[in-house]
Amino acid sequence: MAILAQLHFTLRRGTTLPRCAHHASAVQPVRTRVNALLLALALLLFGAVPTANAQSSSADTNRQIVQVSTINALISGIFDGDTTLRELKQYGSFGIGTINHLDGEMLMLDGVSYQITADGEVHQLPPDTKTPFAAVTDFHSDSVTTATNIESFDALQKAIDADLPSPNLFYAIKITGTFPEMKVRSVPRQTQPYRSLTDVVKDQSLFTYQNTSGTVVGFRCPPFVQGINVAGYHLHFLSADKRQGGHVLGFKIESGRTEIDVLPDFKLILPDSSAFLKADLRDKNEADIHAVEQIRVK
Ligand code: ZN
Repeated sequence: MAILAQLHFTLRRGTTLPRCAHHASAVQPVRTRVNALLLALALLLFGAVPTANAQSSSADTNRQIVQVSTINALISGIFDGDTTLRELKQYGSFGIGTINHLDGEMLMLDGVSYQITADGEVHQLPPDTKTPFAAVTDFHSDSVTTATNIESFDALQKAIDADLPSPNLFYAIKITGTFPEMKVRSVPRQTQPYRSLTDVVKDQSLFTYQNTSGTVVGFRCPPFVQGINVAGYHLHFLSADKRQGGHVLGFKIESGRTEIDVLPDFKLILPDSSAFLKADLRDKNEADIHAVEQIRVK
């Protein structure tokens, strides 16, 4: 039985937004239904501040997701980028992606970037490492939820979805907890000429970790960005001892703390490499995106 003890969203400008949940649970904590007016007010207060004043303050960065390249480009085999992790870190200390040559999964937590290679090893990445695809934010939680006995990725997803103010914003998601089961994958380093990511994932490595603890890092993106990023959930995992990790396929949570950061601002940094400039990126690759990034394993 999944129990999400919902607290509340505290907006960074001092407004408290009551939250609601529509999913059924036998044990329900006290919940407050979202008041549409309050939501509108909240979005106005912290979501609709003009970005013309982009350099106004560092406080603004914690409302923004910054992304390098597009998921379509990655799927098309554009595995080399020109943005370093040092540059990426200017935009946030929390995020996911991969590194050049598609050399495994990447996760950034507390400003430190980790690579999980196809052999399951975790390495700390030097700042001059380049990425062909990544998204980061300066994580500040807007809501904190206790997740207990969550049976699957899908169950957690439904529970989080039910509590979000809207499906149409970006959210950073951080889950810190103990996982009786954590299923992850990583992808092997590629050499030129590059194959499509759809082909590469046929050679992916799968790992199942039992009774591990650590942090899940990732994003939930709105449906209309499919092709630019992954619509829906895209999560990576790093164990507390920094020895296990990868792109999350499935899990069970014994107990965890789920933090959500609402991100109404989106910045996209496109590569200027000839591979990107010449690529045909007209297709949305709906099925491919699902196949490479959103397969769930129970
Ligand atoms: Zn991933």
